[in-house]
Amino acid sequence: MEIHNTTEEIVFSTIKDMCASIEKEGNSNNFCLCDQCRIDAACFVLNRIPPHYIISNRGAARIDQGAYRQQKDADVVSLVYEALKRISHNQRPHADHTGGTARKVVQGPVFNIPTIIGRAFNGANFSPLVDARVELRREGKLAEMKNRNWQNPCTLVENIQGTFTFWPESISAKEAGIRKNFEYSIKIEAAGFETLSHFFEVPVLSEAGDAESFSMNRTLKLPDMYLFPPGGDED
Ligand SMILES: [Zn+2]
Repeated sequence: MEIHNTTEEIVFSTIKDMCASIEKEGNSNNFCLCDQCRIDAACFVLNRIPPHYIISNRGAARIDQGAYRQQKDADVVSLVYEALKRISHNQRPHADHTGGTARKVVQGPVFNIPTIIGRAFNGANFSPLVDARVELRREGKLAEMKNRNWQNPCTLVENIQGTFTFWPESISAKEAGIRKNFEYSIKIEAAGFETLSHFFEVPVLSEAGDAESFSMNRTLKLPDMYLFPPGGDED
């Protein structure tokens, strides 16, 4: 049994469809539709609408939610539009918005590591953290990113609501179909707060080839992280 947030699916597929039609129609508003901005838009929308959880057996058929779903789709479309507009006007300063060309494509069978998404908050007042430096580490060093859209370390700036995202590069595998856990850690540093380190495992099933294009369905969400000023009772 799995708990599943159907809102995520709706948001991801709406963004994909809307970006495709914006591109098709010539993108007259000049929205940035790079991978990083798409995922920022997804976070913007998901932070503004309630989740809708269902319990599903693995591989169970989608539940048709009828009228509820239609109303929700309309809300999502207008929120996605607002998200793309705002994010295009306040792009992440250090990211490369030019496209998603892979830095290097791993040949042969690979473990495609999912995009990793998390949020960092000020634990004293629960506001999203600003001006923090976030690192994704693996085997004692900064993890290499899939392509130049993704920054590691990345900096949390004002309009991204404490959200950080990473897409680590693929790791070659002996063959397809091997299940393996990869250890990563997040390190968050901000002035006036104790540095936070969060260790986690990413289970991955190896596949025949490198996932060259970004998919929002291939994401791993980390629990929200809270930073505290030094000298508290936190231990
Ligand atoms: Zn962009």
